[in-house]
Amino acid sequence: MGHVINLANLFIGLNVILGNQISVVMKKWNLLLLACCVLMASCYSQNSQKKQTVMDTTKKSNNPVYSTTDTAKVVMKEEEWKKILSPEVYEIARQKGTERPWSSKFEDYKEVGTYYCAACGNALFKSDTKFESGCGWPSFYEPISKAAIIYTPDNTHGMQRTEVQCGRCKAHLGHVFDDGPKPTGLRYCINGVVLDFEKAKAAEKKYEEKKR
Ligand SMILES: [Zn+2]
Repeated sequence: MGHVINLANLFIGLNVILGNQISVVMKKWNLLLLACCVLMASCYSQNSQKKQTVMDTTKKSNNPVYSTTDTAKVVMKEEEWKKILSPEVYEIARQKGTERPWSSKFEDYKEVGTYYCAACGNALFKSDTKFESGCGWPSFYEPISKAAIIYTPDNTHGMQRTEVQCGRCKAHLGHVFDDGPKPTGLRYCINGVVLDFEKAKAAEKKYEEKKR
């Protein structure tokens, strides 16, 4: 009898230990599942946030001159610009500032679409003229049209450079250098802060909607 009781006790004991282990394993799985869910949720929200910043409409609610379709020149007082632009965009577009190298999300961006002036919506560059220059700023070898860009000599900081401005609102965009790739041999070195991007498919859809 003694043996039987002992065996029974052992069996119960084993069950308890195994049960504990199983429940520990289950808890681990639950935690893992939870972690996966949290990760997926954060990825999803990051993606949707990304889409919101990248996708762009033809207008901006707080900026009355912003339009990706209107090509009429924009002339406005500095104080007006200050009111409608974000401090980052204002600093570069109107104060001729320069963003930190490697700081732009557009530096190694490879989506297909069009880049617009973040101050006024003027179309500036197509993604197929973008190239990796390694200079730390988004680089293009050709503007979308001749009228898209204005060129101005810039002799500041002890250098002789050519400043690149938006052809519609004269926002400072960056500089152009002659060490770019074929076919133009030019490198438009542009501050990503003053660029808006719209994916080709979204632009196409908008164009189709307009035709109707
Ligand atoms: Zn502009």
